Amino acid sequence: MADLERFSLRIGGTDVDSASGATFESQNPYTQKAWAVLADGTPADVDRAVAAAREAFQGPWAHATGFQRAVLLRKLADLVTSNGDRLARLEVNDSGKLLREMTDQMVGLAAWFHYFAGVADKIEGRQIPTPNPNYLVYTRREAIGVVAAITPWNSPLLLLAWKLAPALAAGCTVVVKPSEHAPASTVAFAQLVDEAGFPPGVVNVVTSSAPEVGAALAAHPGVDKVAFTGSTGTGRHVAVAAAGNLNPVTLELGGKSPQVVFEDADLAAAANGVVSGVFAAAGQTCMAGSRLIVHESVHDELVRLITDRADAIRLGDPTEAAAEMGPIANAPQYEKVLSYLHTAQAEGATIACGGTADDIGGYFVAPTVLTGVNPDSTIVREEVFGPVLSVYSFTDEEQAVRYANDTRFGLAGAVWTKDVHRAHRVAAALRAGTVWINAYRAVSPSVPFGGYGASGIGRESGLDAVDAYTETKAVWVELTGGTRDPFTIG
Ligand code: ADP
Repeated sequence: MADLERFSLRIGGTDVDSASGATFESQNPYTQKAWAVLADGTPADVDRAVAAAREAFQGPWAHATGFQRAVLLRKLADLVTSNGDRLARLEVNDSGKLLREMTDQMVGLAAWFHYFAGVADKIEGRQIPTPNPNYLVYTRREAIGVVAAITPWNSPLLLLAWKLAPALAAGCTVVVKPSEHAPASTVAFAQLVDEAGFPPGVVNVVTSSAPEVGAALAAHPGVDKVAFTGSTGTGRHVAVAAAGNLNPVTLELGGKSPQVVFEDADLAAAANGVVSGVFAAAGQTCMAGSRLIVHESVHDELVRLITDRADAIRLGDPTEAAAEMGPIANAPQYEKVLSYLHTAQAEGATIACGGTADDIGGYFVAPTVLTGVNPDSTIVREEVFGPVLSVYSFTDEEQAVRYANDTRFGLAGAVWTKDVHRAHRVAAALRAGTVWINAYRAVSPSVPFGGYGASGIGRESGLDAVDAYTETKAVWVELTGGTRDPFTIG
């Protein structure tokens, strides 16, 4: 235990112990050993963190202009860049994701803060005409208040940045509850927030091994807005908790995203896109392209290209540059993926490759391609969150679109075709928050991301993301200075 890294709660700009004094350990899924000890926060710590966030919201932060917030956001972006290697290593230790992927992700993380620094000093109201010329009316966009940010284990800092960057640009304060499976990087990141010069209490972190602490934060009466990324089931609980306080929520939830490949597609490019969509990050991304819907005439060739590449994927130590896929991020998720593989076979899927735990051991699952799946089977309907691709074929465009949209989710999807007319027609027909044409898995701070249906509520990133963290106030100014009949409106 002596050589484990230690992480405290961050409340009011300082490291503090949990109110109970308890700690919990975080496991490295590659070594399967504990590597860090974290403060095991309680609902009492949530109370303390929300109070600190409220105090900061009403204190100096309330008077910081958008220009001053922009300066701090840029400093934070620079600190993320200079600390990128350390933050990436913390995430790899917690989640087993590839070091090179997480190092790249830290570059992206800085870009989110730079982008929203650019937004912070451009949060404008409007001057609005009314039928009565005696009034000047304008709007102010004011910070919504204390934000609860609840994040998952798959990309803790990136998914936090999607919330934090617009929230800070708008002038909010934040209490973060990272996942019990990958909490360390969020604590280290909060230290950078304070180092950048944000007033104490603007960003607070409560780590905990108990889901009840996330629930306490989502339902906290001192919170003004809830932003959540995680599973659809938990998202539903979070939405109900927020509704109890009549608080707005943004929810970024699960997916079962389709990759629709037409007969005229560049099959090598499509195969590459399908591999990146479902095997990168071992398929543990909300936007994983886990359903391949392919024209029957190119089914066999495309499956061959994908399985050839899948069989060649190098599984191994995520810190090594040669590795292409790390382990599944934690024991419960590993068991869940294997159980879906059993169910798929029991329901008649054919294993084109993979299909089991990988013989390298640990939490590794072999990249898996399942063909001949029934569109109504469990593996097609439920999110696996692992390296598992389900393949089925279509005969015409109408059927392709119907299959693609036959899901309760609607996070993302892709169309692969060289026909420009069909590409845009199908992109319009897909019921999903993001559609890539001849591409997959591209995101940007400037582009809205979010889901239809069971994939969530609201959008993160893009110019409009700040709207979710502001209230609009209408100010009416009487211009004549006269008095009027008190019993008529207007
Ligand atoms: P995953 O991280 O596996 O997608 P979850 O959706 O359960 O799984 O977790 C996302 C985040 O929500 C985590 O930080 C988790 O601790 C937290 N959480 C779990 N249960 C609840 C709940 N009932 N209310 C609020 N947050 C929760």
